[in-house]
Amino acid sequence: MSLVPCRACGHKVDISALTCPGCGATDPGRKISRQQRDLRSFLIQLLIGLTFLGFGGWYVWNGVIPMAKQYLVKPAV
Ligand SMILES: [Zn+2]
Repeated sequence: MSLVPCRACGHKVDISALTCPGCGATDPGRKISRQQRDLRSFLIQLLIGLTFLGFGGWYVWNGVIPMAKQYLVKPAV
């Protein structure tokens, strides 16, 4: 159980409360839960981005660099 300020009047209400006991506004904790959802989607996007970045780095290290070395060494031999 966590208390959040009502988005309409600032009265402390439970995050799961359907109406604010202070002013009667519906879903007073909605703004907070939307922020939590935004944070979760941001973290998922960050994880996906890091995965692509890691895979891209691995691909460059194992695929492009040996190929580049081979290309650079060949004319000398
Ligand atoms: Zn209120």
